[in-house]
Amino acid sequence: MPWDTAHIYEHAFIFEYQERLRQAGLIAQVTSSISGETFETVIFISVLFRNEQASRVMKAYLAQGAMPSQKTINHALSNIENEERSSITVKNHPKLLSQLEQLVDTPWRLVKNIEPVFVDSQAVSPDKKSVELKLSEKDFIDFEIFISLRDASLEDVAVFNRLSGFIVDAACEQLSIDFQAYFNDDDSLVRLDKKRLCFTSRIELTVKNTVKSTDIETSAQAGINKLLDSTNMKVMKDTLRAWSHDPRSYGVLINYYRYSGLIAGAENIEKLAGADRMRSIISMLEIKASRRVRHNKA
Ligand SMILES: [Zn+2]
Repeated sequence: MPWDTAHIYEHAFIFEYQERLRQAGLIAQVTSSISGETFETVIFISVLFRNEQASRVMKAYLAQGAMPSQKTINHALSNIENEERSSITVKNHPKLLSQLEQLVDTPWRLVKNIEPVFVDSQAVSPDKKSVELKLSEKDFIDFEIFISLRDASLEDVAVFNRLSGFIVDAACEQLSIDFQAYFNDDDSLVRLDKKRLCFTSRIELTVKNTVKSTDIETSAQAGINKLLDSTNMKVMKDTLRAWSHDPRSYGVLINYYRYSGLIAGAENIEKLAGADRMRSIISMLEIKASRRVRHNKA
């Protein structure tokens, strides 16, 4: 199987699963965190479910073994164009479909059930390519998005620290749907801005160069607004509860202190994160997108 087709399948598999979550009224990336990595002979998919429904949707999807829709394949192609900063030409559409079908018919295996095995990628005979990639740097542009909470109370900032992951996921989800954006990095920091606590999340992404910063801001805002739906509010609340029992929350607590002087325990944050406070925080956010100059590695 050509690597490019396997890579398309990896992206299509993830998008198709997320579409099913969206059809159930959920923000896919908030409900479930999924990522993939493609090698010559193996595709790895890692997935974390944040609620029962997400795991049921995955089970049903795997049991069905359905071919990705054309919409999904188009999304995957465009998403990979942004990832590789290349234009993709489908040289042989029927061949691409038959290669994808072959991958769909190959069942996924749970890593925990695999006996030690050596996979010799050299032994695989190269198959004919169905797509062609051509590097085209000038057609792509990088943006940085800053999502900030300013002039908020200490309690709001403490809660926002924990919500920021969901906020970034919700923004990324909409940007993925609208522009098939490829995400390079994200991080969050609390800092003191003129003696006021300011919390900023940052997302780095690549899109086609026709996309404007205002398009990015509108899309991110629309995604974030979806967090206000009751199903998504419940996922956030349940995840905060689970987190308050997770010993790793102490490491996060130390980082809050390191960057901002803020100390707030996970159980208290969970108590503070009522629906009204979450709604008010989400509606106070400032979203700013700007072009990012790419420094090519020497
Ligand atoms: Zn990829």
